[in-house]
Amino acid sequence: MARKTPVTRFAPSPTGFLHIGGARTALFNYLFARHHGGKYLLRIEDTDIARSTPEATQAIVDGLDWLGLNPDGDIVYQSRNADRHAQIAHKLVKLGHAYRCYLTSEQAEDQRRIAQNEGRAFRSPYRENAHPDGDGDYVVRFKVPDGQTRIDDLVQGHVSWENSDFDDLVLLRADGTPTYMLAVIVDDHDMGVTHVIRGDDHLINAARQKLMIEAMEWDVPDYAHVPLIHGPDGKKLSKRHGALGVDAYRDMGYIAPGLRNYLMKLGWSHGDDEIFSDENAIAAFNLSGIVKSPARLDFDKMDYINGQHILLMSNEDLLAEALPFLIGANDRSLTDAETVRVTRAVDALKPRSKTLKEMAEQARYLLLSRPLQITGKTAKPLRREGVLPLMQALTLTLKSLEDTKWTADAVHMILDRFVSDNNIGFGKIGQPVRAALTAGHPSPDLSQVIYALGREETLGRLEDALRYNS
Ligand code: GLU
Repeated sequence: MARKTPVTRFAPSPTGFLHIGGARTALFNYLFARHHGGKYLLRIEDTDIARSTPEATQAIVDGLDWLGLNPDGDIVYQSRNADRHAQIAHKLVKLGHAYRCYLTSEQAEDQRRIAQNEGRAFRSPYRENAHPDGDGDYVVRFKVPDGQTRIDDLVQGHVSWENSDFDDLVLLRADGTPTYMLAVIVDDHDMGVTHVIRGDDHLINAARQKLMIEAMEWDVPDYAHVPLIHGPDGKKLSKRHGALGVDAYRDMGYIAPGLRNYLMKLGWSHGDDEIFSDENAIAAFNLSGIVKSPARLDFDKMDYINGQHILLMSNEDLLAEALPFLIGANDRSLTDAETVRVTRAVDALKPRSKTLKEMAEQARYLLLSRPLQITGKTAKPLRREGVLPLMQALTLTLKSLEDTKWTADAVHMILDRFVSDNNIGFGKIGQPVRAALTAGHPSPDLSQVIYALGREETLGRLEDALRYNS
């Protein structure tokens, strides 16, 4: 039978942020759907009223938006489908696959304990009496059938369970609200979901859900349960490993294509390929590449991949993204002259920046206010014997280079000639000039520094240094 076009979904419960593991789940769903020309949907599982604030939901939507993982079609809010969930619970009762259970919660708890002590799953005394006349509060419970349940998981392989190990779980609570287990299968069915790709903490739920889906005679989706992400130490990812939310990674200066590429590679492999554009990622992605053991966060790798994507970005886009970081490091917005400097420097900044934060540190020298504070070890080369007259001579030579001819190549030639004309090693003039121009902040090749600072700022900083050190 030809399979329908895949429909996947990401179904987060709002927690206040988009968890890095959730983001990877969303990405796998997105890539799988795109690869097969299918749809990728978003369902917010907002049935826990206390946690499901509009802000918590918005944080997920914003995180996905930033990562470029916007869903196809409207967002589905699970809480809005409660009537439909209840309707299916009652239908299951009618079909004889579920029943009303009048045990109070204390009674149910007692019975569960007894069952547990006897090493068997919980069964309510009401299960064989599908339509009792009793009145009062009741929950609707699923009537777990006899037999075995097998899931042919696309990541985990074949896994089976004895149904007798499964409790008759609650579908509708006494107040008529649906449980997670019911809501998921109804929503997946109504959304036409063909592939459920999610964390492997839900593997056992898949077996329970399959029983309910079969009871409704609905199509059972294909399952792919992805091993969870662990911290660099191999332990389950938690707060003590640092950032958990995608927003925190954005604040650390990772760019969306970089983080997306890293997350794709986290627990998925494709030969030795490491760097993927979105297009290549869609073309290459398959479920068979998902690694069966938990993936470990590796920040060096994340930096490396992010740095590669910084290199691939257009200067214009990169500067737009870097601007908040530049402003943050500078504590004020950039002047027009500073913007020109940063724009000139961007080619030299790119290979020196793994993150936008690092880029802001590398660009710091461009944004210093005159006169620069040059102190301590940094000032030493300026005090060396014979340095100031040399620097004065170089300043004059640079002054003769017109603004329109102020390129890195032209500056490079001037420096080369200056060094050979004066018969000195490059360090003799390079070190003090670098100190005068950067005050010891990280900087690239000196001709790049001079080019990026521009004629006026370079000469100004050199003259400041001459004045304050003579
Ligand atoms: N809402 C569940 C969670 O955030 C996921 C449910 C599912 O994917 O079926 O863990």
